[in-house]
Amino acid sequence: MSHAASFDVLVIGSGAAGLAAAVSAERSGARVGLTTKTTLQANNSSKAQGGIQAAFGNDDSPAQHAEDVLRSSHGTADPALVEVLTSEARSAIAWLEELGCGFTKENGGYRLARCGGASRKRLLQVGDRTEVNSAALEEHHYFIRHPAH
Ligand SMILES: Cc1cc2nc3c(=O)[nH]c(=O)nc-3n(C[C@H](O)[C@H](O)[C@H](O)COP(=O)(O)OP(=O)(O)OC[C@H]3O[C@@H](n4cnc5c(N)ncnc54)[C@H](O)[C@@H]3O)c2cc1C
Repeated sequence: MSHAASFDVLVIGSGAAGLAAAVSAERSGARVGLTTKTTLQANNSSKAQGGIQAAFGNDDSPAQHAEDVLRSSHGTADPALVEVLTSEARSAIAWLEELGCGFTKENGGYRLARCGGASRKRLLQVGDRTEVNSAALEEHHYFIRHPAH
């Protein structure tokens, strides 16, 4: 039997980008639907367990972060997008913490690791496992449907 539903915003994809869009739209008061190709966890975001980068180190800055991204992209990165990524990285971390993401801390700040392509320690992690957990968002009542189900 078919089931009709109506939303203000329909987000396609349950990776980090889709979930961020869904949460933002819902927080703005929209009725949000989220649909995805197979299962909620079938996305690259669920496989990404290395961590997330933001320039919090005393020897670091968004400009240094941007320089590293541009250099390690070998000229393929769009400078305008890199500017957004690096200048908003610290506020994105604050937003994720507000949503309940418990980044590991040490010595009064974030624990920062060095990762490939970075000239400074700027990788934040949750213990030794950092990933997008769609199931947690489902528990928080974001409306999620699988087209196959
Ligand atoms: C093994 C691995 C490790 C990684 N480690 C890191 C890391 O440590 N740190 C880091 O910053 N980045 C890491 N990355 C990169 C990071 O995972 C991606 O850049 C990021 O997840 C992209 O997010 P996204 O939401 O754009 O895409 P995705 O997470 O891939 O989400 C795309 C979504 O769209 C859905 N979709 C696609 N096509 C359709 C369709 N036709 N109809 C409906 N839905 C569709 C998919 O099902 C999926 O839910 C890693 C990637 C991999 C694969």
